[in-house]
Amino acid sequence: MNQAVLILIKPDGLKKSLTGNILARLSETKLEIVAAKMVRVSKELAEEHYQHLKDKPFFGEIVKYLQGELHDRKKVMALVYWGEDAIKKCRDLAGATNPEEAESTSIRGSYGRITTGGVYENVIHVSSQESEAEREIKLWFHPDEVIVDLYLAKKVAHKEYKTYDWA
Ligand code: UDP
Ligand code: MG
Repeated sequence: MNQAVLILIKPDGLKKSLTGNILARLSETKLEIVAAKMVRVSKELAEEHYQHLKDKPFFGEIVKYLQGELHDRKKVMALVYWGEDAIKKCRDLAGATNPEEAESTSIRGSYGRITTGGVYENVIHVSSQESEAEREIKLWFHPDEVIVDLYLAKKVAHKEYKTYDWA
């Protein structure tokens, strides 16, 4: 069954120059990249992304982590991979949430660490189930940024809407 999955290369992954390594590892899956961009993450976006963890004691720290506050890299790379069993294939490659428990050859096992403050800096986010992937992809991307029609979209006319064009 074809599935979409949201991947984020988190600020520690970017700071450690791991973009190429991570994308190379993910290419082993033979999945298709159907969306990709660099994003500056607002507090609102980070909080919304991690909303399922808002009652955890580490919530504030992981919001800061995703915003790049811990790494002097205020950006993440967001991608959507698409294809057969995409979620399991990418989760398997990523490895366990705790980088100390992740298989040593997995992406998190290879490149992750636990900070002295206790945050799992695990370089990559991967949606963990289909409903979560849908929620996250709709949060991070507009329909016209994804090159396949993943979910129902509607055409909207923006009256007072201003955007940038190249000068
Ligand atoms: N996290 C953490 N400590 C924990 C659990 C999670 O620092 O005890 C961080 C970690 O960076 C993780 C993110 O919060 O990737 C989201 O947690 P989740 O349980 O969704 O794990 P994931 O789906 O990323 O494996
Ligand atoms: Mg998760």
